[in-house]
Amino acid sequence: MTQAAQVSPRDLSRKLREHFGFRRFRPGQEQVVQAALDGRDTIVIMPTGAGKSLCFQLPALALVGTTVVVSPLIALIKDQTDALTGKGIEAAAVNSTLNAAKLRAVMEAIAAGRTEFVYTTPERLADPEFRAALKRVNIDLFVVDEAHCVSQWGHDFRPEFLGLGNAIDDLGRPPVLALTATATADVIDDIKRQLGIADAAVVHTGIYRPNLELEVISAEGETAKRAALVRLLQQTEGTGIIYTATVKAVQELSRFLQDEGLAVAPYHGRLRAAERNENQDRFMRGELRAMVATNAFGMGIDKPDIRFIVHHHVPGTLEAHYQETGRAGRDGLPARCALLYDPGDKRLHAFFQAGRYPSTEDLINAHHALKRLADAPEPPTLAALQAIAPVGKTRLKLALNLFRQRGVVKDEEGRLLLLHRETTDDDLARMARAYRERDERDRLRQQHMIEYAESRGCRWDYLLRYFTEDPESIACNHCDRCAPERFRAA
Ligand code: ADP
Ligand code: MG
Repeated sequence: MTQAAQVSPRDLSRKLREHFGFRRFRPGQEQVVQAALDGRDTIVIMPTGAGKSLCFQLPALALVGTTVVVSPLIALIKDQTDALTGKGIEAAAVNSTLNAAKLRAVMEAIAAGRTEFVYTTPERLADPEFRAALKRVNIDLFVVDEAHCVSQWGHDFRPEFLGLGNAIDDLGRPPVLALTATATADVIDDIKRQLGIADAAVVHTGIYRPNLELEVISAEGETAKRAALVRLLQQTEGTGIIYTATVKAVQELSRFLQDEGLAVAPYHGRLRAAERNENQDRFMRGELRAMVATNAFGMGIDKPDIRFIVHHHVPGTLEAHYQETGRAGRDGLPARCALLYDPGDKRLHAFFQAGRYPSTEDLINAHHALKRLADAPEPPTLAALQAIAPVGKTRLKLALNLFRQRGVVKDEEGRLLLLHRETTDDDLARMARAYRERDERDRLRQQHMIEYAESRGCRWDYLLRYFTEDPESIACNHCDRCAPERFRAA
């Protein structure tokens, strides 16, 4: 049990004022803080901008030990650790940007128990040395921020998210606090399973944000979409984000809009870091009408006055749509959220989806490669396995995750120990079923996204029904279905 569980409500209010300068808790915050202090596993679902950070930062300050915060993005980690350090609180960021000397200094501070917060990424947490260092300190809260990534990315391009449950075990199962803005029952179940917190309490404050004006603009073909986009930019004021599905589309669209005389900049994962940062700074300073971006942009961007979000292509899921749309209007003022919908864009996602998960054949190939390497004097590293297994890199990692879960392999000091040589092809075929089911679920989610776009009913009502089990009834005057005159006039 944690000693700090006896912190009184009065003490909490005092800490809220002293450390954060806030007079009162927002809905849900106090309940989550109390759960964390009581050492209960908790999943928090609050809309973007609701104040999730406080839910773990305040109990962390009240607890004696160190709090580990896993966050998906280095930029996000930097924002939060800078803000905490600015308040005189010891917060360390342990990620790939540290040089050796800096890393050593940070690790010493952690080992001495001087750091209140250790912010890190799932990739870093997979590093055995780092994990061993963490094991030596008293960790009394393990936070997973943007926890939908566990489910959304874990099975996709960042499989390290699936190793978090293992890391939590390894650290002696400290209380877990997982936070996200978006979670369907499906995703919540997945988070619980992956993090090993089956009995976690769920605190859900609802997702309705009436200042977000939702609309879907039908536009077939790129020319029609561009015309609609230019019109929309003429009608709106302030700064916004235009999301596209691919890097290529970002490049082409930002060039087009620049030629139209609009101050836009591109943002995607393949830009040089210097250019990316410069574009982001210009966006933050309000010098741009819009950032044209892939989904690499936006998470953790704390700009309160984003006035519009345009989806130039239909997103893959309503989760992604809501997450991205939710970045607008954090200041509570109206923001326009438009989806440019071309029914032909459905094909895009079918294309991305194909071959995303390991097939039975991939599992067999991965297992054969492991068997071959198991006869060497030393168990193989991941790199050694990648070199000989004829399986795509991401799919190989996913295959290994499955093997770990089923006790076929185990990690030891960065090496892969094969525990089950005798796993048969039939066994592997059965294991592949887990991913086939996931694939089906993904496709179902894509269908819901399309259904939203094509639905004749209220947009918000659709979202509330999709995201909540017991949807609140709303009198929406904030979508193109409920207030068409306003959207047409716009
Ligand atoms: P989220 O992670 O849910 O998107 P953040 O934790 O980034 O939201 O908080 C959003 C904003 O709300 C921040 O500017 C934060 O300082 C502010 N905030 C959080 N809690 C409170 C509170 N109790 N009173 C006033 N402002 C708060
Ligand atoms: Mg947050």
